[in-house]
Amino acid sequence: MADLLAVSGDITKLHVDAIVNAANSSLLGGGGVDGAIHRAAGPELLEACRKLHGCKTGDAKATPGFRLPAKWVFHTVGPVWNGGGHNEDDLLASCYRRCLELARELNVKSIAFPAISTGIYGFPSDRAAKIAIQTVRTNIEGTGVERVEFVCFGDETRKIYDDLLSAVN
Ligand code: ADP
Repeated sequence: MADLLAVSGDITKLHVDAIVNAANSSLLGGGGVDGAIHRAAGPELLEACRKLHGCKTGDAKATPGFRLPAKWVFHTVGPVWNGGGHNEDDLLASCYRRCLELARELNVKSIAFPAISTGIYGFPSDRAAKIAIQTVRTNIEGTGVERVEFVCFGDETRKIYDDLLSAVN
């Protein structure tokens, strides 16, 4: 079984094979973690993203990491929270699944996820974290991924992940 762990801090600093970007569907840049990743990776990242012609909610697409320590960036588009009755849970789970598929295809052994959709897109953090962990646990087998880092930007998120990851279920 792969190692699943919570880490704190800035995802752009991590030395992993792939970091995941919580992008918007244009893939042409935004605020939050997306802005931080583009600033750290350099302008080549935007050029690479232009060639992808956007990404649907729940899907993910890969680019190189350029100036980042990570070799790859997986750009995924989480759902905007709209009360929970608009397929938000399934779409969020799909983001994590698609990133694990890309990891398998690109022989990625270590991957770091931000808390997709929980910033500007407004998904409740605890509900999103449960989906993130559950989806990774049930889809990681056979991917070749050995280490998954859930990157927590803030103490509240960190506590949620620590509690969920230490729970035996
Ligand atoms: P979304 O639009 O999917 O909600 P955001 O970028 O607004 O995306 O937020 C997603 C999560 O990423 C939030 O929990 C936010 O606190 C976190 N975040 C923002 N900047 C960084 C960063 N540099 N590294 C890791 N996580 C970050």
